[in-house]
Amino acid sequence: MTATTTLRANSRNFGIIAHIDAGKTTLSERILLKTGEIHRAGEVHDGAATMDHMDLEKERGITIGAAATRAVWNGHTFTLIDTPGHIDFAIEVERSLRVLDGAIAVLSGVEGIQPQTETVWRQAQKHAVPMIVFVNKMDRVGADFERVVGQMRDRLDALPVPLTIPVGAADTFAGAIDVLGQRLLSWDASGLMTSSALPQNLAAIALDAYAHAAAVAADASDALTSAYLDNDTLSAIEIATGLRAMTIARRAVPVFAGSAYKNAGIEPLLDAIVDWLPSPEERAAPTGLLAGASVSVGTSPSDPLAALVFKVIHDDHGSLSFVRLYGGTLREGDTVWNATLGAPVRIGRLYVVHADRRVGVEEASAGSIIAIAGLKDALTGQTLSTKAVPLTLETIQAGEPVVALA
Ligand code: GDP
Repeated sequence: MTATTTLRANSRNFGIIAHIDAGKTTLSERILLKTGEIHRAGEVHDGAATMDHMDLEKERGITIGAAATRAVWNGHTFTLIDTPGHIDFAIEVERSLRVLDGAIAVLSGVEGIQPQTETVWRQAQKHAVPMIVFVNKMDRVGADFERVVGQMRDRLDALPVPLTIPVGAADTFAGAIDVLGQRLLSWDASGLMTSSALPQNLAAIALDAYAHAAAVAADASDALTSAYLDNDTLSAIEIATGLRAMTIARRAVPVFAGSAYKNAGIEPLLDAIVDWLPSPEERAAPTGLLAGASVSVGTSPSDPLAALVFKVIHDDHGSLSFVRLYGGTLREGDTVWNATLGAPVRIGRLYVVHADRRVGVEEASAGSIIAIAGLKDALTGQTLSTKAVPLTLETIQAGEPVVALA
């Protein structure tokens, strides 16, 4: 048994949203590679040989597309939550957006904003999910970072704040300007990053982008506004503080560039998940329904249990129910209340799911995402609570189709 309770401030539950083909699978895989969760660099080839999640899973016996995959980056616990790509699974999409605390929107540097990007973006807004953007495929002919940033303003009504700016595009794509660090980043084929001083010809672009980030961060608070007015700029630390608040409040969207395929830009993106996306406790408490009234859910580990089943999968070992704990603590062997069914249910084994293995844990607490083995009568959308406080987090209307992707 491993220890269970991770510091909530050090965890990030996030998803990746994208139009099909923008590079979500490739990026997910690169994230798992860079964090050491998987070790073989498989490739999702262009053209006819394109592999999807299922093929990748079959080939390696791993579950890149699992409901929720754990990884660790710089002392932070990441849970990468799968968001179904297909808009036909509307309820599944909504449910997965609901359980994550932040998202990376992957945009193709070539195609830019696509219809599905707009749809999922609006859904994420509806669920108040803070976002960062990764402009992918900068190695491809026709990639145009500035155009995509402009489309974010025009078509998504977003306030983009580029924090890495690609240098060159297609064949000449050679790295990126780190705006807050005012340095040049480059990657070798394996994704290893080096940084160096900015060449003179990039200084003006880098300073402009820094000034833009400072101006946006200045809006976060009165203190930052006055610091900005006094000095006509902000320090990188002040920008970090302000921009984090602006991002979590969904008033700004940090933007990064790279090529998942070429392993370029992954490390700054992993840092960005820590730097800009909220921890569970930085999110507003969700509301639940208790005896017909709307109530705010207590979000500490000592509050009454409130957990949403957001995915149930079945394999050779039986069922695995993925739950997001909003409040309270779940322990192996507990008997809890399935508030949706109005019935007691016993908690069997608890697992943290990694790309290629499950790790048993004794307990899990508010803010975490955990899998329960063999949960009786489990269906997505159900709430686990206590009998004393039998609140439900989601009510599904009778007759509403519930689509299981498993
Ligand atoms: P998804 O549908 O969003 O999951 O997209 P995939 O990750 O499956 O990628 C779609 C196609 O684009 C695949 O053929 C990938 O190899 C390719 N691709 C993904 N990222 C990049 C990139 O950064 N550069 C290039 N040139 N191709 C990429």
